[in-house]
Amino acid sequence: MNVDAIIIGAGACGLMCAVQAGFLGKKVIVLEKNSKPGAKILISGGGRCNYTNQFATTEQFISANPHFLKSSFNQWTVDDTISFFETYGIVGGEKTLGQLFPVDKNAKDIVAVFTSLCEEMEQEIWCNIDVKDIEQTSEGFKVSYVLGEKTKSIIAPKVVVASGGLPIPKMGATDFALRFARNNGLNIIETAPALVPLTITGKDEDWYAQLSGNSVFCEVSNDEMSFEENILFTHWGLSGPAILQISSYWRRGEVFNINLLPNQNIIELIEEERKTNGKTLLSTLLNRFYAKKFTDALGKFLPLTKTVADLSKSEMELIFKTIHEFKVKPAGDKGYDKAEVMRGGIDTNEISSKTLECKKIPGLYFGGECMDVTGWLGGYNFQWAWASGFVIAQNI
Ligand SMILES: Cc1cc2nc3c(=O)[nH]c(=O)nc-3n(C[C@H](O)[C@H](O)[C@H](O)COP(=O)(O)OP(=O)(O)OC[C@H]3O[C@@H](n4cnc5c(N)ncnc54)[C@H](O)[C@@H]3O)c2cc1C
Repeated sequence: MNVDAIIIGAGACGLMCAVQAGFLGKKVIVLEKNSKPGAKILISGGGRCNYTNQFATTEQFISANPHFLKSSFNQWTVDDTISFFETYGIVGGEKTLGQLFPVDKNAKDIVAVFTSLCEEMEQEIWCNIDVKDIEQTSEGFKVSYVLGEKTKSIIAPKVVVASGGLPIPKMGATDFALRFARNNGLNIIETAPALVPLTITGKDEDWYAQLSGNSVFCEVSNDEMSFEENILFTHWGLSGPAILQISSYWRRGEVFNINLLPNQNIIELIEEERKTNGKTLLSTLLNRFYAKKFTDALGKFLPLTKTVADLSKSEMELIFKTIHEFKVKPAGDKGYDKAEVMRGGIDTNEISSKTLECKKIPGLYFGGECMDVTGWLGGYNFQWAWASGFVIAQNI
């Protein structure tokens, strides 16, 4: 078959790459393991797809080489994402913190933009294809795959690995990119689930479990990073946006900090209250900021039934530490079944930042989540997937 490139994976990166290549008159075939393209786009943002972030810069990404992204983000900007989708009828609305979601449309419409354009430009997407290997031959790259019971292959001068990361195996995720990279001597930055809920076991488990379903606006931080968003208590530990964000910076065994009352100082609040009404109970004061259930649970640590006037110096210190420096030591995370992304991946030093071509294997490109580029929660990961798809399309 006469094609310019084979793209492995009809996810965010592979689909953008196919469309952009089509705009340049290049013919590609996309090979996809699932029965339909764009599985993760469809489930993203609760089916609404947070497709970019207005404030995305290279700063909201974790990578061993933080400068790597600059070239791709210069070539394909957030404005490019916004106007690309607007051209095809998808207008974005900000939900919070710069996160753009389609207004009056959803994730299905995002996928439909790509499938319609592919159809129009005769870019083929072959589904139910499980790619097993890529070999270099004198005729080009030979991509071997399994379709049903049969093993087949296809040859092309260039190949794009856009097969994603390890999260959500039941949605088609495979270790193909990592395995291929490893087998070809490429370095891998250690991988782990990221943007993932964290579990609490042992003596604290029941305390967290009793609060299941409650969410509290907090500042969650460790030595590297801090995030101000909600945390959500669950019967097995902690979730919610602030926890997902810090999980990407958390390593097993580490403790992180939760400030349960960011932007205010509980000691100042108590002292203010003492001036006007010293008989206010600590619980009454805390109920101004938290749901009663949460205040009651803080009773495990704090003298809730004391009046603010009666609190001793050591009790004030305890209150400060509990409210502003609440320490959490998760037992682990919920793993790849619940993670939104993978941290780590193919070392960016193996790849040209300008073209995304593999330095050791000319003609082979990597894009999207399989690489050591991990974005924060909030549309950043799609911005990288679109940008990398675009950049590769210019070069295949
Ligand atoms: C629940 C959930 C919600 C999310 N919400 C958001 C959000 O709102 N905003 C955001 O920015 N990010 C979100 N993400 C992250 C985002 O989905 C990913 O970062 C993005 O999809 C990565 O794009 P990709 O093209 O690299 O990989 P994918 O989109 O994962 O695409 C890879 C494709 O390759 C296919 N594949 C894998 N192995 C093979 C093989 N051997 N042969 C053939 N095909 C193969 C897979 O089936 C898949 O279709 C979310 C992730 C999850 C899990």
